[in-house]
Amino acid sequence: MFNRLGMTTHATPSQSAEDYLERIHELIEEKGYARVVDIASSLKVKQASVTSMVQKLGEAGYLKYEKYRGLILTHKGREVARKIQKRHETLSRFFSLFGLDAETQRRDIAGIEHHLSPDTVEILADLARFFEEHPETLRLFQQFGRGPTPSRSGQT
Ligand code: MN
Repeated sequence: MFNRLGMTTHATPSQSAEDYLERIHELIEEKGYARVVDIASSLKVKQASVTSMVQKLGEAGYLKYEKYRGLILTHKGREVARKIQKRHETLSRFFSLFGLDAETQRRDIAGIEHHLSPDTVEILADLARFFEEHPETLRLFQQFGRGPTPSRSGQT
């Protein structure tokens, strides 16, 4: 699974490669550049791991190293990074509807984001939009999901 990226037969990056692309894109957007040391500290991995992943991502055509500018994403790298980012945002939008705390959201999104098919993500995006546009339905659902209701427990 982790070698998917290195194989030309596979068009999509592996899940950890996706994390790198996403973070590199974020760093470039925030600071204008992405240094190996910053990537390492924000992903909590060793610099040597970053260097080797950066090399693989470079070989697969997602990024390149330019003298004076440092790491930059190629057009293909940016496209993929934006999709990864968009998917993350969709999941955040969806999870934040239900009052889950930020840490639970963060952990659960990290756990599933690389495993969902585009079709499933699209459904979750529609569902998020549906609830956003129908707050009264969201409230109904929130009440529905709130464990045993007083009337129900009163009857037993
Ligand atoms: Mn993410």
